[in-house]
Amino acid sequence: MSTLKAVRGTRDLLPPETALWNRIEATARSVFARYNFGEIRTPIFEDTGLFARGVGEETDIVSKEMYTWEDRARAQSEKTQSLTLRPENTAGVVRAYIEHKLGETGQLQKLYYIGPQFRRERPQKGRYRQFSQIGAEVIGPPSAGSESPLRDAEVLEMLATLLDELGITGWTLHINSVGSAADRARYNEALRAVLVSVAPRMCIDCQRRAVTNPLRVLDCKVAEDQPIIDTLPRIADSLDEDSKTHFAAVIAALDAAGVPYSRNSRLVRGLDYYTRTTFEFTHGGLGAQNALLGGGRYDGLSEAIGGPKAPGIGFAMGEDRLVLTLQALEAATPEKVDAFIAPLGESMNPAALALARELRRAGLTVELGEGSFRLKKSFEAADKTARRIVILGEDELQSGILTVKDFATGTQTKVPRGELAAVLTK
Ligand code: AMP
Repeated sequence: MSTLKAVRGTRDLLPPETALWNRIEATARSVFARYNFGEIRTPIFEDTGLFARGVGEETDIVSKEMYTWEDRARAQSEKTQSLTLRPENTAGVVRAYIEHKLGETGQLQKLYYIGPQFRRERPQKGRYRQFSQIGAEVIGPPSAGSESPLRDAEVLEMLATLLDELGITGWTLHINSVGSAADRARYNEALRAVLVSVAPRMCIDCQRRAVTNPLRVLDCKVAEDQPIIDTLPRIADSLDEDSKTHFAAVIAALDAAGVPYSRNSRLVRGLDYYTRTTFEFTHGGLGAQNALLGGGRYDGLSEAIGGPKAPGIGFAMGEDRLVLTLQALEAATPEKVDAFIAPLGESMNPAALALARELRRAGLTVELGEGSFRLKKSFEAADKTARRIVILGEDELQSGILTVKDFATGTQTKVPRGELAAVLTK
C-alpha cells in the first residue's frame, strides 16, 4: 500500500517551528488589544455566493482557486447548497457584521482574526493551498467615522508597529488609491480603450483581462509585458476630488506619525471590493512571493452582499510568510532551554523528576534526561537542547550541592540547591 501524505499545498507544522507561530500570534494579539480590537472567529466554510459577490466573480480567487462543493441535503427540509472553504476572511467578517446587526450599535467595529484560508494555487515556497492569515477590519456606519482617512492611517501605523514588535525589519509599505467605484469604472474604461491596441502584444492572461477586467493587467508579472504596462494610463489621473483629498489626508497622517511608505500607482490588488486606499507590505527576504500582507478600503462591500452602508478598511497578513521572514532573519539558531537535568544512574530518576518539578514551578524551561544513559550521552543530548546541564548523583542529592556546567562559557560550578533556580534564570 502506498503511504499517505499531506495533500499537495498543505503541510504539517512541527516543533520548534510551531513555537514561532505561537510567538507571532501572541504578539499580534497583544498589539491588536492595545489598539482596542476584539477577536472574531467566523466559520471555515460559507455559502459560495458570499465569495462570488463579496470577492468578485472575475478575480483569480473566485474564478479558479476556490474549494467548492455541492453539499447534499440530509433531510427533506434542507436544500442542497453550494459551499466553499473560505479563501479569505473579509467577506465572512462583513457577513457576520450584517448578520449580527453590528452597525446598529452606531460604533466602529474593530475586529481581528487568525486562521486558515484555502486557495487552489500553484504551490511554491511561501504559497500554499492551506495557509494562515492574521487580519483585522475596521467597519461601521459612516456616522461612526468609518470613512475617515484617519482610520486608514491608524491601521497602517498599527501594522508598522506590529512588524517592528515581531522583529521584522526591512519591510516596505506600498500605498495607492484606487478611488471610488465610479473612479475605478472610469479608469477601467480608460485602460480598455488603450488596451485594444496594445493587448495583442501582451501575454495570454493580459489579453483575457483586457476584455474581462482591464484593471487586473496591472498585476501582470510577465517581464516582457512590463514596458507596455508602464505606458498605460495611471489611476491617479482618474480620481475625483473627494478621492484625491481622502488619499492626501491618509498620506499626511502617515507623515505625521513617521510611518515610511512608497507610493505605487500600479497597486490595485487582487480583490474586486477595494475602494480608495490599497496597500501592501513587502519584504526582500521572501523571494518571488514577496508580499507579507495586503489590504485596503472596501466602502461598498457590505452593500454588495446585501447589508447596510458600512465603509471599512482592513488587511490580511500571510502568517506563513511572517514565519519564513523571521526564520531567515534569525538565521535559525534553535532556541535552547534553560537546563538539562542528568540523573546519574536509574536510581536517581525519581529525585531528578522532583528537581525538574521544582525548577519548572520556578518558571524555568527544563529538559529531563534519563539515568540509564552514560554521562557522555547525557552531555551530548544536553548540549543539543539546553544552555546548561545539571548533574544529579547520590552525592549531590545528599549534600544538596549540584554541579552545573554552562555550555556557552564552558565553566563548571557548584550551586546549593536553594540557589539553583536563581542561577539558572541568569
Ligand atoms: P490576499 O488575501 O490575496 O490579499 O493576501 C493577503 C496576504 O496573504 C498576502 O500578502 C500573503 O502574505 C498571504 N497569502 C495569500 N495567498 C497565500 C498563499 N496561497 N499562501 C501563503 N500566503 C498567502
